[in-house]
Amino acid sequence: MRALVWHGPRSMRLERVPDPVPGPGEVLLRVEAVGICGSELSGYLGENSLRRPPLVMGHEFVASVAALGPGAGAAVGARVVVNPLLPCGACPACRRGQRHLCAERRIVGAARPGAFADAVAVPASACHEVAGDLPAPVAALAEPLACAVRAVGHARPEPGSRVLILGAGAIGLLAVAVALRAQPSLLAVADVHAARLGTAGLWGASHLIDGAGPVAEDARRLAGGEGVDIAVDAVGVAATRRAAVRAVRPGGRVVFVGLHDAESPLPCNEIVRGEVEVRGSFCYSEADFEAALAMLARGTLRQGPWIEERPLEEGPQAFDDLLRGAVGASKVILRP
Ligand SMILES: [Zn+2]
Ligand SMILES: [Zn+2]
Repeated sequence: MRALVWHGPRSMRLERVPDPVPGPGEVLLRVEAVGICGSELSGYLGENSLRRPPLVMGHEFVASVAALGPGAGAAVGARVVVNPLLPCGACPACRRGQRHLCAERRIVGAARPGAFADAVAVPASACHEVAGDLPAPVAALAEPLACAVRAVGHARPEPGSRVLILGAGAIGLLAVAVALRAQPSLLAVADVHAARLGTAGLWGASHLIDGAGPVAEDARRLAGGEGVDIAVDAVGVAATRRAAVRAVRPGGRVVFVGLHDAESPLPCNEIVRGEVEVRGSFCYSEADFEAALAMLARGTLRQGPWIEERPLEEGPQAFDDLLRGAVGASKVILRP
């Protein structure tokens, strides 16, 4: 089969490799569509400790079951999306039911070969069946949508909440879709990229904020001076994390889901005096993943220019284009 093999910083090639052989309890999947994740851009640059070359990345995908390994419970031909987070099931976090915080977790496309290929083997238990008429690029969004479901869930929006989302990349946009379900009175989105901001507007954001300007001040003004109730940072750099904290009202809530800078200075005295709740959000629980699938099944997300499809062989070019900022779309999907 063909696979995009990453060999080190900025070095990725389409190669012929042997078909994966599904182990006990595993299935062999034919990949239909696979998204490129922001975490894989840092992986491509060699700046992500979870990813070591040589590696086939790819963890946001829809596929069909082509063959079964010994004892695998699945139907050949079923169309599935995969929860790529494989917990050990035995560590203290797993025993507490926090499988996404498993210390021994293995992520498809990081700790084992992923879906930037014609085929991939995964545990049958990680597969969730999806309808045949769900467009492939939309189905491939189940995993990032599950991340957005968890992040917005931590922020607990209510009808009338005033919400700020920093970043209109895939996670930020998907957070817009999730937050809208709570019927906020204000849903402002900030980004430095005009095309992505425009997409946020099409998706129902009530206000668009130029990320190059004073984001926290703009958001506070929109919320009547006091500050927004909720800020979700889907970027993860020092400036957006600080803006998120500074944009919320006293007693407001901040959720960090973007992962970029390892450390960021924050106005901690403002957090203390304002009793600002700050928390991180990582991946998704099984319930978040199911909630994302239910949203997709209801047709909440549509295809549009915010998704760009390219053939698998253009994968290396797509990584370079994304890193140069030469892609207006918020998500690039590869089609083997
Ligand atoms: Zn991802
Ligand atoms: Zn575990």
